[in-house]
Amino acid sequence: MQSRDVVVIGGGQAGLAVGFYLRRVPLSWAVLDAQDGPGGAWPRTWDSLRLFSPARFSSLPGWIMPGGMDEYPTREAAVEYLAQYEERYALPVERPVHVRAVRREDGGFVLDTDGGAWRARAVVSATGSWARPYVPDVPGREWFGGMQVHSAWYRAPEALAGKRVLVVGGGNSGAQVLAELSLVADATWVTLAEPTFLPDHVDGRYLFDQATALYRAQKQGRPPPPPADLGDIVMVPPVRQARDRGVLRAVRPFVRMTERGVVWPDGREEAVDAIVWCTGFRPALEHLRPLGVVEADGRVRVQGTRSVREPLLWLVGYGNWTGFASATLIGVGRSARGTVDEVAAALAPAEGKG
Ligand code: FAD
Repeated sequence: MQSRDVVVIGGGQAGLAVGFYLRRVPLSWAVLDAQDGPGGAWPRTWDSLRLFSPARFSSLPGWIMPGGMDEYPTREAAVEYLAQYEERYALPVERPVHVRAVRREDGGFVLDTDGGAWRARAVVSATGSWARPYVPDVPGREWFGGMQVHSAWYRAPEALAGKRVLVVGGGNSGAQVLAELSLVADATWVTLAEPTFLPDHVDGRYLFDQATALYRAQKQGRPPPPPADLGDIVMVPPVRQARDRGVLRAVRPFVRMTERGVVWPDGREEAVDAIVWCTGFRPALEHLRPLGVVEADGRVRVQGTRSVREPLLWLVGYGNWTGFASATLIGVGRSARGTVDEVAAALAPAEGKG
């Protein structure tokens, strides 16, 4: 059985950011990642995806992503950056190693993996959410005979060319998928509420700045600043072009699905060929269930990034509930640094005794 002071589960951007800071502390550690190659979820996103912040503002701690201020990186650029980041800092990532379960044993943790068991004194979970796509429970969904694909598995519009398609979801994924599908298919955008768009000149940096303001206010015990409420969807070029073509219009959701299509709120039934669910993800935390820390809402209760029930367990990168903007490249460094400070402090007394 392999043994380390700290095992980080997940080798996407969050796991790498934690690794960057772990290099600086006198602890043994490893990152276990289920994928065959570097990049976390990025290699599995759709072909045309562009990051919504310029390269310079899409960087992990220590090394700025090449590309400067004018370039919105492609999926490939993000994967290449993460691959080089691992190499640059010689991060000890073991793959493919899928952690099935984390258990408490003999005062430490045992991680059951498909590559044997690992022991750790502390665990950092950085498994993201890509492994758990979320699809709403629409009545009749199981009867629908057409094609259904979640954005996690959607790659390119060609397979849906010429078809009647509904794109469900009012976030950036929905907007980007609708934008490209509308070029080749009869696509309708379905959103819970009217989508809201950031002004053209405002990109993902704004979302990070907003998160930073919240973070600072919380740290200093001040009331949070009122949200500027500029909108949610970043107007990357394909989305802007879709707006200019007049296709960025959304309708409210259908009430149920049938074998051939959907039923709209006014009772009208319509045949559709395919539905693309851009309805988000849930945190991938199945491996933590044996610890009894996963709550009914599918999350782990944390203070900062540290589990409240299990004080030698940390969670990094899952979204604002584990640190403001922590699910972004530029935002996760802050959570990672704080986490490693806490891990080092928690393990230090035992180090001294040993
Ligand atoms: P992941 O990248 O999912 O990495 C987690 C890793 O853990 C994976 O390799 C996975 O295989 C592994 N893993 C999971 N479970 C286990 C297990 N049990 N055992 C071992 N390994 C496991 N962010 C930005 O900063 N800028 C953007 O422009 C941007 N655009 C986005 C566009 C879309 C469509 C989406 C969905 C997200 C975007 N994001 C963007 C958000 C964010 O960068 C990603 O969600 C990011 O991949 C999260 O990183 P992560 O390391 O937390 O998780």
